[in-house]
Amino acid sequence: MTQITGQTKLLGVIGCPIEHSLSPAMHNAALADLALNRSQTFLEYVYLPLRVEPENLESALNGMAALGYRGFNVTIPHKQAIMPYLREVSALARAVGAVNTAIRRGGDWVGTNTDVRGFLSPLETLSRDWSNLEVCVLGSGGSARAVIAACHELNCAAIHVVGRDPMKLQQLQDSLRQTDASISIQIRDWSSIDTLLPDVGLAVNATPMGMHPKLNESPLGETAIALLPPTAIVYDLIYTPRPTQLLALAQRQGLQTIDGLEMLIQQGAAAFELWTGESPSISVMREAALNALG
Ligand code: NAP
Repeated sequence: MTQITGQTKLLGVIGCPIEHSLSPAMHNAALADLALNRSQTFLEYVYLPLRVEPENLESALNGMAALGYRGFNVTIPHKQAIMPYLREVSALARAVGAVNTAIRRGGDWVGTNTDVRGFLSPLETLSRDWSNLEVCVLGSGGSARAVIAACHELNCAAIHVVGRDPMKLQQLQDSLRQTDASISIQIRDWSSIDTLLPDVGLAVNATPMGMHPKLNESPLGETAIALLPPTAIVYDLIYTPRPTQLLALAQRQGLQTIDGLEMLIQQGAAAFELWTGESPSISVMREAALNALG
């Protein structure tokens, strides 16, 4: 069995709460696999879940630097709050407005965002002409911003963002304009969704509807899903339950569906590569995530 020794370097994830994060299981499985493939008897890296209260963020960053951490993931509630403490934030993370990965570089922390890569990964396996395709993003929170940046990267024909709070939608549009003027979105309220759906090729759920404790909820009902073209893809960022109510309804109508598990795995894999310079085994990460989900 590979051991933690004095040579083992530290990685982790900061968040609050952190108890339910799947990242330690995924990363430690991939790190053990890496050691095994290199026939090493010790672990080169170990990945720890770190509960950091919002008021302790700055001291936690200093502490992690002092302890020699090589990098870490960032989750709720620190994804935006961490940005002022980083020496450098990638253009992508600035466009998304959130950092989910920090890397130690030259004695400082630099931040980026791998959620965009994670979201794109299952789409890139499909041969579609995204430039002809209109996207409908349901929800306007943190992950919606990563989806918008990803759809911009795909060069989609139009990105419609549907939300329930007109003020938040306007703020989203204004802040996107400030961070990257080339990203353009059409903001919509839920009442306009029926007129939108017949032209939508990719519908993305970026709300918690369908996730515990709202397992029986779906952002789109059966009638709304029936309005989507038969070639449409329905993508739910939620990774448990599998399938969500939304994806079960879409599958019943014969639509192609994608759940959030691959995004979770691929954002982790992209961070792993940034820290270690090595590609992790995706199948090892997937198996560990599925085991952790039970
Ligand atoms: P967030 O920042 O809290 O945003 C949630 C959005 O959903 C907000 O726009 C919110 O509207 C909207 N919303 C919540 N309840 C709603 C309802 N009943 N009806 C209509 N809109 C509703 O959350 P997030 O970080 O973006 O996460 C969203 C989902 O994505 C979560 O389920 C999360 O688990 C999942 N996620 C998955 C991954 C992955 O790797 N697969 C990564 C990130 C997130 P208001 O602003 O009006 O409240």
